[in-house]
Amino acid sequence: MSKKPANDLQDLQYFGEYGGVNPSISDSSTYTFLSAKTMFNTFEGNTEGCYLYSRHSSPSNLYLGEALAALEGTETANVTASGMGAITAVILQLCDAGDHIISSRTIYGGTYAFMKNFLKRFNIETTFLDITDLDAVAEAITPKTKMIYCESVSNPLLEVADIAALSGIAKKNNLPLVVDNTFSPLSITPVKLGADIIIHSLTKFINGTSDCVAGVVCGTKEFCLSLKDVNSGAGMLLGSTLDSLRGASILKNMRTLHIRMKKHSENAMFLARNFEKDGLRVVYPGLSSHPGHLIMEDQMNPEYGFGGLMTIDVGSLENANALMELMQDKKLGYLAVSLGFYKTLFSAPGTSTSSEIPLEEQKEMGLGDGLIRFSIGLDEDIRRTYEAIKQCMIELNILETQRPTFS
Ligand SMILES: *Cc1c(COP(=O)(O)O)cnc(C)c1O
Repeated sequence: MSKKPANDLQDLQYFGEYGGVNPSISDSSTYTFLSAKTMFNTFEGNTEGCYLYSRHSSPSNLYLGEALAALEGTETANVTASGMGAITAVILQLCDAGDHIISSRTIYGGTYAFMKNFLKRFNIETTFLDITDLDAVAEAITPKTKMIYCESVSNPLLEVADIAALSGIAKKNNLPLVVDNTFSPLSITPVKLGADIIIHSLTKFINGTSDCVAGVVCGTKEFCLSLKDVNSGAGMLLGSTLDSLRGASILKNMRTLHIRMKKHSENAMFLARNFEKDGLRVVYPGLSSHPGHLIMEDQMNPEYGFGGLMTIDVGSLENANALMELMQDKKLGYLAVSLGFYKTLFSAPGTSTSSEIPLEEQKEMGLGDGLIRFSIGLDEDIRRTYEAIKQCMIELNILETQRPTFS
């Protein structure tokens, strides 16, 4: 694949039904067959070139899947109705009752809850560990282990997984490495580093407009077809199907992803550098103080930067709440979960998106209750934003009054 994943995305050309520059949107749940024999063959698995029923696949979702496969450099991709729809289908496709999963302990709260609580029903056990501790990963493998799971840049602590090293361990043990790349589309291409299955919540950066939920599984043709199998495919049978209208709108939004990612990253880098200089406890993979900085530098596509997510620990939940409310009042962004919007979004993960993780475990992994997660927006004038956030912090005594930085 080319050095720049955005090239592969941009090289796709579409000719709609009437020569439109956007593919026509499929407006059907079911499809006709010219012969009964073809319908039978399609149910037997010979689905090449045939549409059967839109839970199985639809032209609009296939177009979006093709673009996502180009983005991630995989053979193909299946889109789903949410990120969790992709994650749960992959896990249930790979694991049988009684199996074992190795997972990073700092992952999206919903994924954590699914593995920790829901999979109990199937007696599937997950070992949660510090994914940057490669020896611990290797040691945790048992004959029942069916997958190694991580996020390339983790939610919410922004730990950076050494995907190449993890892939080495996975390959040695004949296990698939499943990577949720939601936080770092374009910046990191996990397949280039040896990952086998890539998942995204399209809800975040890839769609970028915070108007719908959607997800994707990118992988080999063999795996993606298995997910769609009418008799045994977790994707097909659990029914997490994206609506065609949404599929078409996400495809259109995706075409500006490279421009947006550069701007999110540039703005986040500016704020992280300056707030760190101000003496705040900032976590951002672009800072040399970040423990995963060199690994990220090593495995990223540099033109897209270190991503739009940053955390600041302001010491206490009261501080965090007061600051978030004040920033929202000053129109600096929204007190909201999710990420990848044009406005900055901020939330305190300990009491929101990661509240599924018990307090003790939160503490152990370094998730303090004064932690604010920022998804930095596409602000045109980030210096102005910086000065305004800083004023909020001074007003709340989170930052001491310092020499004014207005110049
Ligand atoms: C949001 C998110 C998910 C879940 O995606 P939904 O689209 O909300 O189902 C999974 N992983 C990460 C890293 C996320 O941020």
